[in-house]
Amino acid sequence: MLVITNARPSVLARIDRILVENGLTHTRHPGPDRCVFAVDGHAGTATVTRLAATPGVIDVLTAPGDQWLSARRVRPRTTRVDVGFGVEVGGDAFVVAAGPCAVESQAVLNDITSVVALGGASILRGGAFKPRSHPASFQGLGAEGLALLARQREITAIPVVTEVLDPRHVAAVAESADILQIGARNMHNFELLKEAGRSGRPVLLKRGLAATVDEWFGAAEYVLRTGNPHVILCERGIRTFEPATRFTLDLGAVAVAKRRGHLPVLVDPSHATGRRELVRPLALAAAAAGADGLLLDVHTAPETARCDGAQALTATDFDRLMADLRPLLRALGRPLASDTRVLAEGNPT
Ligand code: PEP
Ligand code: MN
Repeated sequence: MLVITNARPSVLARIDRILVENGLTHTRHPGPDRCVFAVDGHAGTATVTRLAATPGVIDVLTAPGDQWLSARRVRPRTTRVDVGFGVEVGGDAFVVAAGPCAVESQAVLNDITSVVALGGASILRGGAFKPRSHPASFQGLGAEGLALLARQREITAIPVVTEVLDPRHVAAVAESADILQIGARNMHNFELLKEAGRSGRPVLLKRGLAATVDEWFGAAEYVLRTGNPHVILCERGIRTFEPATRFTLDLGAVAVAKRRGHLPVLVDPSHATGRRELVRPLALAAAAAGADGLLLDVHTAPETARCDGAQALTATDFDRLMADLRPLLRALGRPLASDTRVLAEGNPT
């Protein structure tokens, strides 16, 4: 059962009392304007009626199909995830996260960070732990890669997103990065989801390559139930019968996710297509479809990239995409996050 309240302290205390009196355990999920109680076990009709009649209670959801902390019915407003350094995902502004698929060296990371930060990205992406399909492929620099990312973040004051593959690495990744990425291959790794949730850091949850929207939301629920509300969804393509692209970007799922839930949704057209020439059209389509931002592979020398070079935008490609994105966002009535940040800094009032 979910009990949705207006979050006034007197109401919270009253709900607590009713639940305790009825021997019901629960977790509390506060938010900007509502507090949701996720109640374990079964509540009798009399208790449900009493809870629903309590002033300050907005809704009591008892149907098994309604037990979703991510649902718009539970929180009508889109969740704004503060990822640090003044950057918010899910707010009015459209956010671009960009960088190499994998962190390779300090010099290359420096170059790429300059390109993406100057070009309009607000978040730096880069994998230190890489989930590769073959064990002989480059597995990432690991802890050394984390240190390089942490250094970029310190020098450039840009928030960093990087993947965590193993529950034992969550603490280290949470120390070096602002957002923990759960990759498509780990979307069903529930112990990892719980551990990432417990870190308290924002979690970027990629859709599994064969996961339904329902399963994707189920994975988000695992993070939310730890008490961590900072979840960002990311559509990155699903496996279909179509080999012309690496995966099939499912923009329908983006529209569904935005209606169904209150969590912000990013789109990764790089991993979806696997081909740099297809990234621009699908990035623009994602913005038009209502995504809250993009996750993009960018590399200054993609031909030498140790991972996914074929899908990485060059500096020129990235600048061109951003030049096309700005007027589209204007037409959509949505500023680019990096532009609003510059404005805010330039205007102290
Ligand atoms: C990535 O973003 O680096 C990545 C491996 O993506 P995915 O999990 O979507 O394949
Ligand atoms: Mn990749």
